[in-house]
Amino acid sequence: REESPSYKRVLLKVSGEALMGKGSGGVDPEMVDMVAADIAAVVASGVQVCLVVGGGNIFRGLSAAARGMDRAQGDYAGMLATIINALMLQNGLERQGLETRVMTAIQMAAIAEPYIRRRAVRHMEKGRVVIFAAGTGNPFFTTDTAAALRANEMECDALFKGTQVDGIYSDDPRRNPDAVRYDQLTYMDVLARQLNVMDAAAISLARENKLPIVVFNMHAPGAFATVVRGEGRFTRVI
Ligand code: UDP
Repeated sequence: REESPSYKRVLLKVSGEALMGKGSGGVDPEMVDMVAADIAAVVASGVQVCLVVGGGNIFRGLSAAARGMDRAQGDYAGMLATIINALMLQNGLERQGLETRVMTAIQMAAIAEPYIRRRAVRHMEKGRVVIFAAGTGNPFFTTDTAAALRANEMECDALFKGTQVDGIYSDDPRRNPDAVRYDQLTYMDVLARQLNVMDAAAISLARENKLPIVVFNMHAPGAFATVVRGEGRFTRVI
């Protein structure tokens, strides 16, 4: 494993679940504060940070489709859910004293900027935390794919994916006590073994551009800052 990688610019994927706390949906203000403080620590260390935020705590197109809703229509509703999360996260980050911008893939000009790549890069160069909302703007995609897409566009050094467990396992460690944890995997390992960490579209996008993915547990204060320093437990996909 590489010793203390020094990152210049990173993307953190914040799932909707990460903002949910102990509840079964919605947003827990304490979780928003914890995630925001963690991000602020990374920014303070001199790393440029951008975020892709999910929406699964509010609405998922696929779940709605399983109950009879048109899939594309459900996915658009899911993308709007990510904008709600983005606004709450933006507020949390501002309370940490950070400068932020929300940029949406579906235009909502009264509350956020439209996503324009070169403008996003400029924001980051000025030290602002850019929150990318509304996923890719297309139904049938996920915010994981949006995270790989934006990380490539922003030329990030790595994509950090915060999850419920401290890396990638051979099976769900919460259900299978024999599940093995990996320190490092290749993109092909993840695809071939169908390891349930990000969808195949996201892994393929990262692979094509050699974007390292770092999977870690986000449920502890300071977890993101720790893995950005190269410490703690995580799985690296390269
Ligand atoms: N979504 C979409 N296109 C995208 C990103 C997201 O249609 O590019 C929709 C999709 O319905 C998804 C929902 O938005 O279920 C919420 O995103 P996701 O499930 O990825 O959020 P997370 O699991 O990270 O909370």
